[in-house]
Amino acid sequence: MSNVLVYANQLGGNLSSNAREALTLSRRLVRATGGEVGAVLVGSEVEQGAREAIACGASKVYTIENSLLVDYQVELYLDALCAAFQQFDANILMLPFDRKGKDLVGRLATRLNASAITEVTDTKNEDGQVRWIRPIYGNKAFGEYTATRGKVVVGIRPKSFEQAVPDETRTGSIIPVNYKVSEENIVTKLVESIESSLSGMRLEDARIIVSGGKGIDGREAFNDLQALADVLGGVVGASRAACDAGWVPTNLQVGQTGAVVAPDLYIAVGISGASQHLSGITNAKTVIAINNDSEAPIFKRANIGVVADYKTIIPTLTEELKKKLGTDQRSHTCS
Ligand SMILES: Cc1cc2nc3c(=O)[nH]c(=O)nc-3n(C[C@H](O)[C@H](O)[C@H](O)COP(=O)(O)OP(=O)(O)OC[C@H]3O[C@@H](n4cnc5c(N)ncnc54)[C@H](O)[C@@H]3O)c2cc1C
Repeated sequence: MSNVLVYANQLGGNLSSNAREALTLSRRLVRATGGEVGAVLVGSEVEQGAREAIACGASKVYTIENSLLVDYQVELYLDALCAAFQQFDANILMLPFDRKGKDLVGRLATRLNASAITEVTDTKNEDGQVRWIRPIYGNKAFGEYTATRGKVVVGIRPKSFEQAVPDETRTGSIIPVNYKVSEENIVTKLVESIESSLSGMRLEDARIIVSGGKGIDGREAFNDLQALADVLGGVVGASRAACDAGWVPTNLQVGQTGAVVAPDLYIAVGISGASQHLSGITNAKTVIAINNDSEAPIFKRANIGVVADYKTIIPTLTEELKKKLGTDQRSHTCS
């Protein structure tokens, strides 16, 4: 029997899509193994999210509200999640393996003396034991893992499961956690939060992404990609090499150590297609690659490949689409 506790993070007062995916998986697990689904919400104004978690299948929702938890703070979130885990008497702690999840999974497993399994994209049951499935070797194969400890902390790869559909007739209890938040536990502090000039829709939520890599001509050239994205109603992304070069902020990075995205259309411009980049676009529906090297690995993943210098394609494509779609290009620049 497994009691599964989901860290149900919120976005704008509602459960995140990643949290809803984790709730789908947790319900599937308890259906197979028995046990209960719980959820934990941390931060402020968690009431709405807590009700949503119940509607999405959690029978108990633990809430931890404190002004010190409004901004993500690794040490405090670690303490808070461990407190909820113990209160729920859980065996499995499930987190979306997003930026926070990547920060937390290893720390939580150490603190709870639990096994840690990351990037989970599927599960199966063998002889009454859960097998956690995750991509390995840069998505070229899948590994199946079992936890060797009684407790396990699992990071769920975003965009791998259907989002739980709320059913308002479901009932459950909302339980404030008895956890005293202490400022003394903070060993690192958020001193400033700077909004990205390219912010708007999150990459993870975008249906169209135009991504640039090291093959484009630097920071200024991203303005051309932005113009194309604007015409299409999409957003700009980037490879790690482009982010490392300082051309765009790191929150635009797509891939294994960046955002995992699942757009309808992904246009990769001057991106070679390294496995670490491709692992972020596994679930993209259509990939168009523009690259001047016909041997570039991105063409193996692309549905449509254009072997050309991007400078001969992007401005013309943007202009033609503008005419066709009648969309005004917004005055939006990259910095
Ligand atoms: C642990 C680890 C994690 C990583 N995580 C990530 C990650 O999350 N995301 C990520 O992206 N990378 C990641 N990387 C880095 C990854 O291995 C690659 O180095 C990176 O993706 C390469 O970026 P790129 O394709 O933009 O650059 P390059 O590999 O330099 O490719 C540039 C491409 O542009 C093409 N090109 C050049 N000029 C033109 C032109 N005028 N027109 C059209 N095409 C042109 C070239 O043919 C080439 O294919 C990671 C690496 C490691 C080790």
